[in-house]
Amino acid sequence: MKLLLATRNRGKVREMEALFSDIPIEPVSIPDPAFDIEETGSSFEENAVLKAEGCGKRFGMLSLGDDSGLQVDSLGGRPGIYSARYASGDEERCRKLLAEMEGAEDRRARFVCCACLYSPDADLIRELKNAAGENGDYVFYRNDPRIITVKAFLEGEIAFEPGGSNGFGFDPVFYAPCLGCRLAEASPEEKNAVSHRGKAMRKIKELLRIAAEREMI
Ligand code: IMP
Repeated sequence: MKLLLATRNRGKVREMEALFSDIPIEPVSIPDPAFDIEETGSSFEENAVLKAEGCGKRFGMLSLGDDSGLQVDSLGGRPGIYSARYASGDEERCRKLLAEMEGAEDRRARFVCCACLYSPDADLIRELKNAAGENGDYVFYRNDPRIITVKAFLEGEIAFEPGGSNGFGFDPVFYAPCLGCRLAEASPEEKNAVSHRGKAMRKIKELLRIAAEREMI
């Protein structure tokens, strides 16, 4: 079955193609280059739903959207949902964050990802709800029976200086204790195994795998 990816980010599309390669799901990109969705939500969940539902309704397809960002404790959770708009390029993004964090002792931070699956067919979501059972990772919405969301985190610290050349965004200044290095110093596979987006997408994949096994999709 085709799965519409509600993103224009080529990096995310490649990640999803690799992730879903061993289940009967064919990820496809947004077919209309002019189609755009504004991220006007006030939470990661709202933005993920806006993306998945916006694409899914427009093209009448099973759709997957996600929204992610960095929360820094000593900045009161900023930049949060405004991470993409925090600065105009990745280098500037890291430079600005290190400047804001100068002298800060509490360097705790986390990446957050919320993923949303939308199906034009509410019966499929109902079946997936049954399949998920008591698993509290998944959120189902009584007032919106066509969506499921999942949220995942990667806990870490803001480094004192940038390092590494892999990844994107804040990766050079995010130290992940579970890897013992900054994210930009990890390989894509190492990062994906522990990352907020990797975890959220694997949870979505679990449901889609069950749906495929039960021939619901
Ligand atoms: P969006 O999910 O495409 O809206 O992106 C949110 C922004 O959060 C990105 O532009 C990055 O600045 C930041 N971000 C999200 N995930 C990551 C990550 O895995 N590494 C580094 N930065 C990230």
